[in-house]
Amino acid sequence: MIAENYREVEQKICEACARSGRSRSEVTLIAVSKTKPVEMLREAMEAGAEVFGENKVQELCDKYEVLPRNIHWHLIGHLQRNKVKYVVEKAELIHSVDSLRLAEEISKEAVKKDIQANILIEVNVAEEESKFGVTVEGTEELIRQIAPLPHIHIRGLMTIAPYVEDPEENRIIFRTLKKLAVDIKMKNIDNVDMDVLSMGMTGDYQVAIEEGATMVRVGTGIFGERDYLV
Ligand SMILES: *Cc1c(COP(=O)(O)O)cnc(C)c1O
Repeated sequence: MIAENYREVEQKICEACARSGRSRSEVTLIAVSKTKPVEMLREAMEAGAEVFGENKVQELCDKYEVLPRNIHWHLIGHLQRNKVKYVVEKAELIHSVDSLRLAEEISKEAVKKDIQANILIEVNVAEEESKFGVTVEGTEELIRQIAPLPHIHIRGLMTIAPYVEDPEENRIIFRTLKKLAVDIKMKNIDNVDMDVLSMGMTGDYQVAIEEGATMVRVGTGIFGERDYLV
């Protein structure tokens, strides 16, 4: 079932890339495995998954311990400062940085462990009250504050689009994030890359790819519905 789902998502990614004249290699599929048992992650690995996304530090760390070390782990959920020390070494990319205070903590822990922390800035493009993320208007200023911190590297932007019935409704959200990344890239800020655009989930990843996503985060489409809301 997971293998079949995974192949179907792969196929749809290929189609979206073809429609928008992009190469499949430009888009990373992140299998969002939150709430799912490690057996299901193993199944996804057998189907070809290499990158897994978790939204809770504890769950990422638990799965990290028992699964093979060749997995690439991404933290996609809100991160509390007191949890940074547990995850900074394990997560290859933290998608959800939306404050200077959090970035300072990540930097501090990365310095301590002598590693380079890769982060994305989470932007609340839709300005939903329930969501984390910096505003579109506040993004450049936050990036300028974070960029000089040691051992931290801004790789791009991330957004969580609203839940919608028709994915076309989110096209404008994805287009806005892409435009913001292009605008910021043109400023040539030291230690800032805008190569990664993490946008698109099960309901809308094809539209996100058409609008320039380089990472899509797909949970339900691979693992099926989650038992509870997170
Ligand atoms: C859960 C989650 C996803 C995956 O959502 P699906 O709709 O199940 O694909 C993607 N991104 C984030 C940040 C999430 O928390």
